[in-house]
Amino acid sequence: MMQIYRPLNQIGFVYREIRQGLADIEAMFRLLDQDPEIEDKAGAGALKLDGPVLAFENVHFHYDPDRPILKGVSFTVPAGKTIAVVGPSGAGKSTISRLIFRFYDAIEGRVTIDGQDIRDVTQSSLRAAIGMVPQDTVLFNDTIAYNIAYGRPNATDEEIRAAARMAQIGPFIETLPNGYNTQVGERGLKLSGGEKQRVAIARTLLKAPPILILDEATSALDTHTEREIQSALDTVSRGRTTLVIAHRLSTVVDADEIIVLREGMIAERGTHAGLLAQNGLYAQMWNRQREAAEASERLRAAEDDP
Ligand code: ATP
Repeated sequence: MMQIYRPLNQIGFVYREIRQGLADIEAMFRLLDQDPEIEDKAGAGALKLDGPVLAFENVHFHYDPDRPILKGVSFTVPAGKTIAVVGPSGAGKSTISRLIFRFYDAIEGRVTIDGQDIRDVTQSSLRAAIGMVPQDTVLFNDTIAYNIAYGRPNATDEEIRAAARMAQIGPFIETLPNGYNTQVGERGLKLSGGEKQRVAIARTLLKAPPILILDEATSALDTHTEREIQSALDTVSRGRTTLVIAHRLSTVVDADEIIVLREGMIAERGTHAGLLAQNGLYAQMWNRQREAAEASERLRAAEDDP
C-alpha cells in the first residue's frame, strides 16, 4: 500500500507546487498588467531589516499625469508601531499600500524601509518582509487548511489551527463537517467577507511578517463581526510595524498616529483624542460616522422590537 501511496502523495505534492506556482504567476501577471516597468535594479541586493521603520519621504504619485493622486506625502511608521491612514473615498489611501509593495513606483520622493529605498532592493525580499490583509481576500479552490497555510506552505497542522484560533476563525471551521479539509472557493463552500478576511489574518499570522499592511474592507460588517475582526487584527499587529488603511474610523482609535489624507495631501495628523480636539476634518468624519452608526443601531433595535 505504502508503495502506491508514496508516489501518489508525491504527485499530489508536485501538483500543489505547480498550482501554487500558477497562483504566483497569476499574481505576477496581475502585477505586470498594472505596470510592466517595475523591475529589480541590476545588482539589487536583499532588503536588510532592522526594526523595521517604514517611511514615505515627500512622495508624489499619479496613475495619469493629468490627475495627481499623492502630492508630497511624508510620514514614518516607527518600529513596532501602528499608523493609520484615513480620509475621504478616493483620497489616495490604498494607493499608499500599492506603492509599498512596488505595484507602482513613486514619481517623486521615496519610500524607505530601514533607510533603504525600496527601489534599490529585490522585489522578492521586499514582498517577503510584508504581510498584507487586503480588502478582498482571494481564496484558492482548495481546503481551508491549504488557504491558511498559503502564507507558509510547510506549516504543521497544529500551527494552522493555532493561527486560525488567533484569527478567531477556528471555532467556525471546527463546526464544519470536514473541518480544516472543507473545500472553499468558487467550487466549494462560499465564505462571507468577514470569514474570508479572518482566513487572510490567519494566513498572515503564519507568515509572521515584520511589516504589516491592513487594507480594511470597505463593506459594512455587523458590529459583532467587526469586533471579532478587530480583535484578530490587534493580535496580528502587536509588535509589528503596521500601516492601517482605514475606511471605518472605529478601527483607528488606538493607532499611535492617525494621518488624515485629503486630495493626496496630509490635511491633519495626530492621535484620536488630539484630532478630535482640533475639531477639523477628522472630527467631522468621526461625528458623521458615529451618527450613521447610531442611526443604524436604532433601526436595528426598532426591527427587533416593533
Ligand atoms: P477608498 O476609500 O474609496 O478605497 P482610496 O482613498 O483608497 O479610496 P485610492 O484607491 O488610493 O483611494 O484611489 C485614489 C484615486 O486614484 C481614485 O480617484 C481612483 O479612481 C484612482 N485610481 C486608483 N487606481 C487607479 C488606476 N489603476 N488607474 C487610474 N486611476 C486609479
